[in-house]
Amino acid sequence: MTEASPDRLPIARGLRGRCPRCGEGRLFRGFLSLRPRCEHCGLDFSFADSGDGPAVFVILIGGFLVAFGALFTEFTLHPPIWVTLIIWLPMTLVVCLALLRPTKGVLLAAQFMNKASQATHD
Ligand SMILES: [Zn+2]
Repeated sequence: MTEASPDRLPIARGLRGRCPRCGEGRLFRGFLSLRPRCEHCGLDFSFADSGDGPAVFVILIGGFLVAFGALFTEFTLHPPIWVTLIIWLPMTLVVCLALLRPTKGVLLAAQFMNKASQATHD
């Protein structure tokens, strides 16, 4: 078993919703709202603004998963349309909500790793 590369650690921390610097403090206060700073190391999270990035990735990844699953069941099991709708419409919501928080954590960790911040017009 090899140890994770140190430069990839912040991504794993973001995936778990932890502070990208120390990996101990929690990143989120609610479902998607950020804490003002890390409760463990004090890192100020004001740098963090992922914008629409998480939504874009969730749309692409979740859309692929749900569309693939719906088409696969349609072509292999040939269920009635109401069964397809009952299964895959709620699954769309579940997949999107499950992916949104880890995706935001990863993008914020990538922002921290690359020392990226919003452009300002001073
Ligand atoms: Zn921290």
